[in-house]
Amino acid sequence: MTLPETLPETVLDLGRAWLGGFQVDLTRYIVAAPLAWLLICVVLAPALKTWKIREDRPPALQHIVELLCSVRSIAIFSAVTLITVGLHKAGLLWGEAFRETPTLLWTAGSLVLTILAHDTWFYWVHRLMHRPRLFRAFHRRHHRSNNPTPFTAYSFDLGEAAVMAAFSPLFLMLVPVAWPAFGLFMIHQIARNVIGHSGYELFPARRDGRPLFDWMTTVTHHDLHHAQAGSNYGLYFTAWDRWMGTENPRYHAEFARVAARRRGAGAEVAALS
Ligand SMILES: [Zn+2]
Ligand SMILES: [Zn+2]
Repeated sequence: MTLPETLPETVLDLGRAWLGGFQVDLTRYIVAAPLAWLLICVVLAPALKTWKIREDRPPALQHIVELLCSVRSIAIFSAVTLITVGLHKAGLLWGEAFRETPTLLWTAGSLVLTILAHDTWFYWVHRLMHRPRLFRAFHRRHHRSNNPTPFTAYSFDLGEAAVMAAFSPLFLMLVPVAWPAFGLFMIHQIARNVIGHSGYELFPARRDGRPLFDWMTTVTHHDLHHAQAGSNYGLYFTAWDRWMGTENPRYHAEFARVAARRRGAGAEVAALS
């Protein structure tokens, strides 16, 4: 059997395009996850001792496995990026002008819209993946990290990586998101994801111990999800968990506990100086 002459060229082009996307996604991950780990969990760890949500530290091997699984996830993300590029080339992403030459208002508007839509997508697919049968096939790898680290952010099973990445082509087909807004959205999602798995409560608290921005998920919010699955499915905002009654009943008490410890340490330092 002879292969058509154009096939190797096409395969090679596809490979090159996939590699291009892989490099971009990997760079974003390498800047975010190891940097956050180095900064929060190593360099600033002594200063942030009272900000740590749990006493115990995740084992070194967990970090390595998460890193390897994350690189595998990024390979899947890049394959899905190829599909998005294909949709663009096939003219299936409407509203070229909105994407290519957006107004400042549309750039800001489409950024907010993308973040809200992604939060909704994440909540529902995440909740679905917690159904016993789907959990085993899609979400077990992520929850092997009971005590998460910044590297847990992309530590997914293959199916979960594909479902997570599918948001982009689906949403981009529906809404002509300004390209600069989409770039900012990608930076926002990795930053929030990595911080949410850091194990240190970095979000500000009110004097009564509640989160200052109670409409946003805090690190404690997602940390509780890893410690005790079955609640707190949200990614950026607390709204879906509150509307659907899936917020962990211990959430505010846990957040207040860390906030009080953090404030206590701050007061000690102020008294000594
Ligand atoms: Zn989960
Ligand atoms: Zn997680």
